[in-house]
Amino acid sequence: MARRMLIAGNWKMNGLRQSLGIIEEIRAFAIVRSDLDILIAPPATLIPAAVKIAGLVKIGGQDCHSKRSGAHTGDISAEMLKDAGATYVILGHSERRAGHNEKSAMVRAKATAAQSAGLMPVICIGESESERRAGKAELVIGRQLEESLPHDTDYVIAYEPIWAIGTGLTASLDDIAAMHIFIRDRLPAGKDVKILYGGSVKPENAAAILAIEDVDGALVGGASLKADSFSAIIDAAPIRFAASK
Ligand code: PEP
Repeated sequence: MARRMLIAGNWKMNGLRQSLGIIEEIRAFAIVRSDLDILIAPPATLIPAAVKIAGLVKIGGQDCHSKRSGAHTGDISAEMLKDAGATYVILGHSERRAGHNEKSAMVRAKATAAQSAGLMPVICIGESESERRAGKAELVIGRQLEESLPHDTDYVIAYEPIWAIGTGLTASLDDIAAMHIFIRDRLPAGKDVKILYGGSVKPENAAAILAIEDVDGALVGGASLKADSFSAIIDAAPIRFAASK
């Protein structure tokens, strides 16, 4: 079954109100490329304003708490993201796993909370450079999948080798293809789940990466912060469906 492509932008801790112009520009691309889904995850402060101007562009959060509410100063629940107009949430990004000591069990709890709130979780997994060099990439990814996935199979996976994030390095096309097949084989609803690649995706490499059969889109950091580079990546995605809407 052909899966609809998803090109997702992760703004991380970047973006003030003036950055909303990027979303206005991308909105036009979402009309032209209605054969695929476009997601932007701005900082939480911009979500309500982003939703107002997004048109067909989907807006997501970059994290959520596993609890619905309570004494968790500074945190945001999945229900709050939904209430603000988000429809997706990125979870388990390597920057959160490393910088906030998030373990896979926590990612699973957050993913379950996101699904209960009606959000689509984008669950990030990825190996470090030393793990890949030691030949342990599949072992690490297999374990992350086993421990991070919620029971409900309605999620998106983002395979992001940690050493490729924000470094300008990308995994080889062969390694990406092999890892995406490995991941799909281990998913209970394998053929129906979108698996994105992330890690220094840019206009120059997007077409080759997105042409790989088991790559269903990209999670883009740095290159999503400018409308011209993000739209060039969207443009590079192959057409799997006739445009709709
Ligand atoms: C990311 O933030 O998930 C990411 C892949 O970043 P970059 O595209 O900048 O490597």
